[in-house]
Amino acid sequence: MPTTPTPCPCGRGPDYETCCGPYHRGEREAPDAESLMRSRYCAFARRDEAYLLRTMHADHANLEEGVGAFARSLREAFAQYRYAGLRVLDRRPPGSDGLAEVLFHARVFEGKADQSFVERSYFAHDGTGWRYLAGDLIPAAALRGRVEALTLDAFARALEALR
Ligand SMILES: [Zn+2]
Repeated sequence: MPTTPTPCPCGRGPDYETCCGPYHRGEREAPDAESLMRSRYCAFARRDEAYLLRTMHADHANLEEGVGAFARSLREAFAQYRYAGLRVLDRRPPGSDGLAEVLFHARVFEGKADQSFVERSYFAHDGTGWRYLAGDLIPAAALRGRVEALTLDAFARALEALR
C-alpha cells in the first residue's frame, strides 16, 4: 500500500521527500535563493542543525562567535519555538553584487505566544551553492496592514520607520 506523502513544511511541495528532502540529504544544492530559504525554514521545522550550519554563508555575522556557539543557539531555538508555516512574499534576483533577496513571513510560536515575523534575507552563492548571508526582521505584530501584501520596497520603508 503506498504511503501518504508528508506535506513539505516549506509550504511549496506536496511531499517532503521530493521537495526539500534532496537538499537536506545533500543529494543536490537548492537551485536558487528562494529554494534555499524555503529549505532552511523547513530545516528549522525538522530540527536539522547540520543543514542549517552547512547553508550559512561563511561571512554571516552569527558565525563570528564560532560555529559551536551558533549551533547551541540553533538547538535553543529548536527547543523554544514551533514552526507553523511559511509564506514567501517577494523576491529579487541577484544583482551585480551577486546578492539575491527573499522576503518571507514565518509563522512561529513560543508556547501559545505568537512570535511570527517578516524577514528580508540576503543570499550569496559561494561557488558550491546558495548560502544565507544576512537578514533583517520585523515582528509581524509590529507591521501595520496586511502582511500578505508586503513587498521588498514596502518592507524597506517599514524598517526605516522603525529605526
Ligand atoms: Zn520544501
